[in-house]
Amino acid sequence: MGLQIDIAAIVANHAALAALAPGARAAAVVKADAYGLGADRVAPALYAAGVRDFFVALAHEGRAIRPLLPQDARINVLSGHMEGADLTGLTPVLNSPAQFFRDRAMRPGQPFAIQLDTGMNRLGMEAAEWGAIRDEALAAGPAFIMSHLACADEPDHPANAAQLSAFCAMTDGCNVPRSLAATGGILLGPDYHFDMVRPGVGMYGGLPFAQARGVVTLSLRVIQTRDVRRGEMVGYGASWHAPRDCRIATVDAGYADGILRSLSGKGAQLFAADVACPVVGRVSMDLITVDVTDLDAVPDRLDLICAHQPIDRLADIAGTIGYEVLTSLGLRYQRTYL
Ligand SMILES: *Cc1c(COP(=O)(O)O)cnc(C)c1O
Repeated sequence: MGLQIDIAAIVANHAALAALAPGARAAAVVKADAYGLGADRVAPALYAAGVRDFFVALAHEGRAIRPLLPQDARINVLSGHMEGADLTGLTPVLNSPAQFFRDRAMRPGQPFAIQLDTGMNRLGMEAAEWGAIRDEALAAGPAFIMSHLACADEPDHPANAAQLSAFCAMTDGCNVPRSLAATGGILLGPDYHFDMVRPGVGMYGGLPFAQARGVVTLSLRVIQTRDVRRGEMVGYGASWHAPRDCRIATVDAGYADGILRSLSGKGAQLFAADVACPVVGRVSMDLITVDVTDLDAVPDRLDLICAHQPIDRLADIAGTIGYEVLTSLGLRYQRTYL
C-alpha cells in the first residue's frame, strides 16, 4: 500500500492561496505533522519556496521542525506557553493573561504573539481580558496579534462579519501586524486578510479551497482475489451478500490506517485507473473487500484516494471532513514524496 504525497502540489496550492491575499504575508500551518502528510518534508519545501512563518499546535511539533529550518523561519505555537514547555527557538501565541504573564516572566525579550477570542470561544483572550493587559502587552512588543474564524467555510454566515468587527474593535490602532484568516478566511476576501494569512487545509488539497490541486494519492495492494456466489456473505457481520456471482478483491489497508470504518456500506469506491469498484462489506482493521467483477483484469493496486475520489468526497461518504481524512492516514503506508 502506498501513499503518494505531491510536495510540488502543496507548494503550488500555497502560492495560489498567497496570490489571493496579495497584501498579506502567507504563513503555512503545519500542525499535526502537516495534516498527517509529514511536516519534515512539507515545512522545508515551503521554506525553499519563500515561506517564513509556520504554525504548529504544540511546542514539541515546533521543536521537531526547528532544526530543519533556517533561523529566519518563525515557528509559532498555537497552544501558547503551557507550563513547563520548552519554547526555545519558537514563538508562543499567548492565549490568556495567565500565559502572557508566565511567558513574560520566563522568556523576557523572546518573541511572542497574542491570540484574541472574537466569538469562537475556543482559544484566545476575551475583550475584557485583553483590555486589562493591552497596554502592557503592546509595550512588550508582540510579533503579531491573531484571531480565528469559526465559520469561514460558510461565506454567508453572519459570524464572519461579527468576528471581523470584533477583531477590528480589539486591535485597531495597535500598530502590530494582524492575522485573522485561515484557508476559508482567505476566500472571504481582502477585508479578512490583514497582514498575515494562515492557510492550512487548502495547501493540502482540501475544501474550502475548491481550486486546490490534489496532493494525496492512496493506492492499496490486492492481496487476494476470489469468486463469490450469489447470496454468499462478505466480511464482518455478514453485512453484505453478493447480489450476483461476483469477484471480490481483498486489499491491504483498513481502519487502522485511517480508512474510516464509517465508510462501510456507504458507496465508497476503489479505482482501477478510471474504473470504479465498489467497497463491499465492512472495512476491517487491516483489510477492505472490493467488488471487482466488472474489471477485465484485476490490477496489483487499486486507488482509494485519487482524482476520481478526492479527500473531501471520501469525507462526505464517511460523514466527516477532509481534514479528518488527512490527519487519520496512518503510519503503515509506504510514503513516496513527489
Ligand atoms: C488549523 C488552523 C489554521 C489553518 O486552518 P485551515 O482551515 O486548515 O486553513 C489557521 N489558524 C488556526 C488558529 C488554526 O487552528
